[in-house]
Amino acid sequence: MNEMGPAPAQVNAYRSLPDSTAYLFLDKASFDVFYALGTREVGGVFTPDTWEKWLASEDLPFIVTADTVDEVASEAGINSEGLKATIESYNADAPAGIDSAFNRPIASSIGEGPYYIIKMNLRYAHSYGGLIANENLEVLDWSETPIPGLYGTGQMLCSIQGRDNIAKPSTGTSFAYTSGRRAVLNALETF
Ligand SMILES: Cc1cc2nc3c(=O)[nH]c(=O)nc-3n(C[C@H](O)[C@H](O)[C@H](O)COP(=O)(O)OP(=O)(O)OC[C@H]3O[C@@H](n4cnc5c(N)ncnc54)[C@H](O)[C@@H]3O)c2cc1C
Repeated sequence: MNEMGPAPAQVNAYRSLPDSTAYLFLDKASFDVFYALGTREVGGVFTPDTWEKWLASEDLPFIVTADTVDEVASEAGINSEGLKATIESYNADAPAGIDSAFNRPIASSIGEGPYYIIKMNLRYAHSYGGLIANENLEVLDWSETPIPGLYGTGQMLCSIQGRDNIAKPSTGTSFAYTSGRRAVLNALETF
């Protein structure tokens, strides 16, 4: 899939896979960036200790590492010939900067190990549907008339994310806070 593409296309790509499961493959250079971002003090999502526990664990999250492509594929239960063919094709496309399989940009070719494979599944993060409100956060009925005294905020409103939340970080929580406050102030002014 093209990870830079619209979220709905990514969801559909996952759904087309067995068990809706994808595998993230990282060489050492990619892993170093992933790990540095993951463990950074502000905005990091795991600590070095947590990472070591995950690596040692047989349970989720599913992460395996090995020095060679064959070994890491075997650890992950993936066909290593298929993985090597994908790497070969990706690296052949690298000089042109576009992955011909998925029309996505390539920053650099896949290089040296150790290699990592992380299993990835879909998660719910945002609603793309819901109630419709006007600029005062009053919920509208089917005829687009405000329903007196009914306000909508945050995730229950469909409009804030549009059809695709990609490249709009923090719009979920920040809209929840601001719309909640604004709706209460509007209600106090009205009633
Ligand atoms: C895995 C994940 C990752 C996310 N990452 C990000 C991110 O990086 N950045 C970002 O901006 N947003 C992110 N979001 C989205 C963000 O968390 C939501 O948009 C935001 O929390 C919505 O806030 P809310 O107050 O509208 O709804 P919620 O946080 O869902 O609050 C609704 C509350 O109502 C309660 N409730 C439900 N029914 C009843 C009932 N009948 N009676 C009483 N209480 C009830 C629920 O228990 C809940 O506490 C993420 C969401 C998920 C799930």
